Amino acid sequence: MPEQTKGLVLAGVGGQGVILAGMIVADALVRAGHDVKQSEVHGMAQRGGSVFSHIRWGQSVDSPLVPEASAEVLAAFEWAEALRWVSYVREGGAVVADLRTIVPPGACRNTRSWATTYPGVDPDLFVDRRLTAHLVDAASTATELGNVRTAGSVILGAVSRFCGIDQIHWEAAIESLVPRGTEEVNLAAFRAGCEVGEATIPVAPAPPEGFSGPHQIEIDHTWCKGCDICSRVCPEYCLAVDLRGQLNVVNADVCTGCHLCELLCPDFAISIHPPSTEVVTAVD
Ligand code: SF4
Ligand code: SF4
Repeated sequence: MPEQTKGLVLAGVGGQGVILAGMIVADALVRAGHDVKQSEVHGMAQRGGSVFSHIRWGQSVDSPLVPEASAEVLAAFEWAEALRWVSYVREGGAVVADLRTIVPPGACRNTRSWATTYPGVDPDLFVDRRLTAHLVDAASTATELGNVRTAGSVILGAVSRFCGIDQIHWEAAIESLVPRGTEEVNLAAFRAGCEVGEATIPVAPAPPEGFSGPHQIEIDHTWCKGCDICSRVCPEYCLAVDLRGQLNVVNADVCTGCHLCELLCPDFAISIHPPSTEVVTAVD
């Protein structure tokens, strides 16, 4: 009897590494001997918009698109994206979701009330279709391991149990595709994600970052090259590059914490902290 084609959906926000994660999943499945087809949409990635990747695998796969209500597992890098894509999971399937909440930049502007724009949670979305939830705080785990950019590997670790392939293939795919020099920390993140167990659906999402007061902007000038990307994308005009090519905070009291600048900085030179965090110094 031919092997049944299976599907997986990865979804997140531009800058979270959804596309790389999709490449790793596809590579791991190919290494395990499956026919694999992948499709992705990332046109809004540079604007903090939704990014998703569909992956199907089996003996012979015709189409890369996962039909609704058929995926084995949804890997959501952000909680609202989990809700957006949950209908793609088959009855009895699994949702691996990062509890991180990112307010879309468009919703940030002028509202000052994330609670009115961020989606609430209807637990029936999960319960009625007997979905299991595996919830992660991937960014915190990755930070504890020493590199917040490995959060995607934490999520992949949690996803790996639903794909039915040996861990050796996952680890080989990670080693071959993550940026050079980060193989070990990504493998550690992946293994940490493998330990994530089933959880109950939270009735209320974690409060999204933002709107609890102006966030704090930290610039690492040893890494910043003054490319101007962050200042151009900031919806609140908090940043500006001066005539010497140095990035400055020019509007500190209106930062909503949308993290767009942090996500899009190619040099990891800017960090956004919640209002209550004590930011000791910005390196100059
Ligand atoms: S995007 Fe990064 S490197 Fe470019 S100006 Fe902003 S902080 Fe500096
Ligand atoms: S400084 Fe960064 S986090 Fe703050 S509003 Fe601008 S883009 Fe968003």
